[in-house]
Amino acid sequence: MVFEGLANRLQDTFNRLRGKGKLSESDVAEAMREVRLALLEADVNFKVVKDFVAKVKERAVGQEVLQSLTPGQHVIKIVNEELTELMGGAQSKLAISPKAPTVYMMVGLQGAGKTTHTGKLARLLQKDHKKPLLVACDIYRPAAIKQLQVLGEQLDVPVFSLGNEVSPVEIARQALEHAKSYGHDYVLIDTAGRLHIDEALMDELKQIKETVQPNEILLVVDAMTGQDAVNVAESFNTQLDVTGAILTKLDGDTRGGAALSIRAVTGTQIKFAGTGEKIDAIEPFHPDRMASRILGMGDVLTLIEKAQASIDKDKAIDLERKMRNADFTLDDFLDQLQQVKQLGPLDQIMGMLPGMNKVKGLQNANVDDKQIGRIEAIIRSMTPTERTEPGVINSSRRKRIAAGSGTSVQEVNRLLKQFEEMQKMMKQFSGMAKKMKGKKGKG
Ligand code: GDP
Repeated sequence: MVFEGLANRLQDTFNRLRGKGKLSESDVAEAMREVRLALLEADVNFKVVKDFVAKVKERAVGQEVLQSLTPGQHVIKIVNEELTELMGGAQSKLAISPKAPTVYMMVGLQGAGKTTHTGKLARLLQKDHKKPLLVACDIYRPAAIKQLQVLGEQLDVPVFSLGNEVSPVEIARQALEHAKSYGHDYVLIDTAGRLHIDEALMDELKQIKETVQPNEILLVVDAMTGQDAVNVAESFNTQLDVTGAILTKLDGDTRGGAALSIRAVTGTQIKFAGTGEKIDAIEPFHPDRMASRILGMGDVLTLIEKAQASIDKDKAIDLERKMRNADFTLDDFLDQLQQVKQLGPLDQIMGMLPGMNKVKGLQNANVDDKQIGRIEAIIRSMTPTERTEPGVINSSRRKRIAAGSGTSVQEVNRLLKQFEEMQKMMKQFSGMAKKMKGKKGKG
């Protein structure tokens, strides 16, 4: 799961806070010490950590929090807001040229995922009924042009290439002409990467930038390289004034240091996150949703968007409403499990559900389809009443359900317990969301 390590540690800290009726200054100080350690261990830049903790502490020892009836939740709310701010606040969308074509230039080190993400962006544009043109400007790595062509074929998006004898600057210039003549509204330029930043590469990128005047220079960085990614971002930004970053391989990043530091250290906003090798494994980067995920509050909105793209829209909206209102039954849970299977790797999806980290056995990467199959069998062995009111399931019913589903009473017990926990969490979060809304309305 994304940020798993960090998420687990922060959630442990906050669970302890949440349990307390009243917070003293030393409770807050202790929690902030743990937050500081958790962030440092997540490989977040130390200066960023220092500023972050200072800010949260200053707000959290305020009178309002210490006198609040739910001080623990109040502190979590502050951390949530500050994490969001740290990652750039509002979501940042891609710029569009008033006059077609819009040009995006992809830059980054070799292996960061530049070519893959050029393809992923093309796919997003294509879904939006746009007509992108891919441009192969990496003439140095022998397989690079071929890789882009294969992607282009797979997507049915044309690739502009002049082989590896013409200079990248000239290729980019001609590609732009070509796009204009053939009515392409977007041009995505895949540039060369190196293993390390070097002057020749930067000069070439600057010349391409001069020539095509891109609407966005998107830096592709590998989240798994942690603080190195931040340093890379710093260098590219100084030389090229990048307009945004695409943070790749977030699926393999359990720490989160790059995601949490890039914006604060370099001022570069993360615009997209790459979450897998497949062509549709890309998400717009929403700082607020990311913060929610880190704090175990789920990311229902991203889940809904994925759902809308791939499955029954009405069902998805219905599900979101139920989660908000916390009137979620075992039938919904079953429905959800089935839909979830279509959405992507289970561990990623689980991280987007509120309170899922509490549901032991479902939370980590060992969630597999077989386990899901057993849960489905258990719910299917229940009567309609049992599914809406699990409270009626006494011990003889448990035995019957276990026999009917080919599982054991322990498994049935575990599922019911987990479901109860999940409902509790949803109630808590929906209560919190309502309260925040109420506050906003008044202010
Ligand atoms: P480039 O040299 O920057 O063009 O990098 P590539 O696009 O060739 O990607 C390098 C490797 O990283 C390939 O094996 C990709 O499949 C893999 N990759 C790219 N993006 C992601 C991602 O978001 N998640 C994962 N797990 N792998 C990725």
